[in-house]
Amino acid sequence: MPNISESEIREVVNLVLNKMKASDTSDWDSTHYGPRKFVGVYSDMNDAISAVQEAYLKVRAMSVEQREAIITEIRRLTRAEAPIMAQLGVSETGMGKVEHKRLKHILVADKTPGTEDIVSNARTGDNGLTLVEMAPFGVVGAITPSTNPSETIICNSIGMIAAGNGVVFNPHPNAIATSNYAVDLVNRASKAAGGPEVLVCSMVKPTLESAAIMQSHPLVRLLVCTGGPGVVKAVLSSGKKAIGAGAGNPPVIVDDTADIKKAGKDIIDGCTFDNNLPCIAEKEVFAFRNIADELISAMLKNGAYMITSEQADALAKIVLVEAKDKKGNTRFVVNRDCVGRDAHVLLAKIGINVSSDIRCIICETDFNHLFVQEELMMPILPIVRVNNIEEAIELAVKAEHGNRHTAHMHSKNIDNLSAFARAVETTIFVKNAPSYAGIGFGGEGHATFTIAGPTGEGITSARSFTRQRRCVMADSFRII
Ligand code: NAD
Repeated sequence: MPNISESEIREVVNLVLNKMKASDTSDWDSTHYGPRKFVGVYSDMNDAISAVQEAYLKVRAMSVEQREAIITEIRRLTRAEAPIMAQLGVSETGMGKVEHKRLKHILVADKTPGTEDIVSNARTGDNGLTLVEMAPFGVVGAITPSTNPSETIICNSIGMIAAGNGVVFNPHPNAIATSNYAVDLVNRASKAAGGPEVLVCSMVKPTLESAAIMQSHPLVRLLVCTGGPGVVKAVLSSGKKAIGAGAGNPPVIVDDTADIKKAGKDIIDGCTFDNNLPCIAEKEVFAFRNIADELISAMLKNGAYMITSEQADALAKIVLVEAKDKKGNTRFVVNRDCVGRDAHVLLAKIGINVSSDIRCIICETDFNHLFVQEELMMPILPIVRVNNIEEAIELAVKAEHGNRHTAHMHSKNIDNLSAFARAVETTIFVKNAPSYAGIGFGGEGHATFTIAGPTGEGITSARSFTRQRRCVMADSFRII
């Protein structure tokens, strides 16, 4: 596919958004993409599950080489159409940054493991040979977020198909067009590589009801949920095998042995990536008192804007709103109109006008401030001064709220680094780098957009979506 021009991107994005807004799944005309409609998108969850069951049976009959050929084509199309999905994601949800979303798609294409992740095990001994293979579950039901919509769908599809499963998605209602574009992309890749025309499925209008049908349908053997605490709890109560990738609130500790200039830049780079939408992004900083001024000055040189505590309180009243939980208690929830918005847009809400070069709002707060306690998913970074490593660790662990998701530290003191890593018990712990190094972007290791802390699969990949099967051959098949 040739490089896509800006005007073509705009044309496709407008077309897709208008079609999906009208829930119109009829054929459409789309420049050199040809007349087509999204493949694999159904209005009834039961129909989608039946279609995926058929696809699963076809995938099961395929050789590993055929599966890998489909995945190679998914990677190719993802790289080619990353600019469209990035623009679509920002246009539809109003959240994030186009260039960062493009990079996230390239990361998924390049670093999501395929069939090589599925490795069999053999054990031999006096009693013969035992083989353990990693088998598919069958139909997987996947719930995906609005923060990384198409990234999660493509990443999940690669891993789940590599493992030999079929997948039905119930995407976030605020990101339907972007999510279904990705579902269609996977199906186009499948067809082009000689696979089934419908390999993965989704809903025209996903709802809580369609999610409920998915969760209770007998053909769905595994649920994979990427989202906030509410939905993770819902799938874990379903009675089915479930993988839950839930919320985080990643703290960062900076001690007085760190390279402070680098720490300031790394923290701002990580915190502002896609306007703080990634669940792994830096959310609050605990800085040693004796380096805090130098750290703040490094942040200011890297696109941060410092607000006063009065301004922080005024901003908190806008970006967080009061809501009642099920027990009638009042609590604060994020204002959806502020999530993933640019720093200068958020600053304008409290009457501060700055240029779009400002990418992060920083402020000094105490530990109890809502900016420290709540997962904002906005480029707002509170900084709390601490006296020593004991205090830093105690407060950072509390701010993480036991999510055991992600934490970061800038330090050259291995005792301090080890003490925090041990205490915070997170799935991802990044040392001396921006947060995104934790998912393979400038750090070693594979990528995922489904980080399953609560259920323990961690940085999910194809093998996370398999079940073990054992085959025993007694007293034979040993060659020694
Ligand atoms: P969200 O929780 O609002 O929605 C996630 C999905 O769940 C959506 O598809 C939504 O429609 C659905 N949903 C919500 N309640 C449900 C219920 N009771 N039953 C069935 N489905 C339900 O997520 P969001 O705002 O798009 O994403 C942000 C949240 O997700 C943050 O908390 C973030 O930390 C988390 N997240 C975690 C990971 C991870 O890998 N651990 C990745 C991305 C996002």
